[in-house]
Amino acid sequence: DDRIARIASAIRVIPDFPKPGIMFQDITTLLLDPKAFKDTIDLFVERYKGKDISVVAGIEARGFIFGPPIALAIGAKFVPMRKPKKLPGEVISEEYSLEYGTDKMEMHVGAVQAGERALIIDDLIATGGTLCAAIRLLGKRVGVHVVECACVIELADLKGRERLGDRPLFVLVSST
Ligand code: IMP
Repeated sequence: DDRIARIASAIRVIPDFPKPGIMFQDITTLLLDPKAFKDTIDLFVERYKGKDISVVAGIEARGFIFGPPIALAIGAKFVPMRKPKKLPGEVISEEYSLEYGTDKMEMHVGAVQAGERALIIDDLIATGGTLCAAIRLLGKRVGVHVVECACVIELADLKGRERLGDRPLFVLVSST
């Protein structure tokens, strides 16, 4: 698909952000190219339309950019998976480990019901820890069927795909 090459080249890499040694994949430049941005959304919509997905769960913060247009196009609701203490209502939360320490992901109680079919979306998968937490929150805790996780970019060397186990992962661009 020749749309992929344009998407890949619209992503900017910023060395040493947020700290030395990290090559940060910056999707804000993809958003500056309306054709590449539209192609990104279209590729996801083409994959998920007609798959009976009732919820698109987007991970803060950049899952909030890609998730809503996909949700609207496939006729699903959008549910934000947020960092702690951001959501005003009653939440359920799931802890996950980072390189140093732990973080938490929260979701509103009642946003999704057991048996619903979900797509989880984020901009990038590195170690897979973030997506695993989202899968636990939706799957184990609420009983949602996670159909697939989708990201624009995969940092393949970090083997996040393996950490997801038998959960399917779909990415547009794989970077090494
Ligand atoms: P993981 O939990 O190790 O898979 O890290 C994925 C999370 O970290 C996602 O929410 C990403 O948005 C964020 N992240 C890690 N590295 C990058 C990057 O290079 N660019 C943008 N986001 C990143």
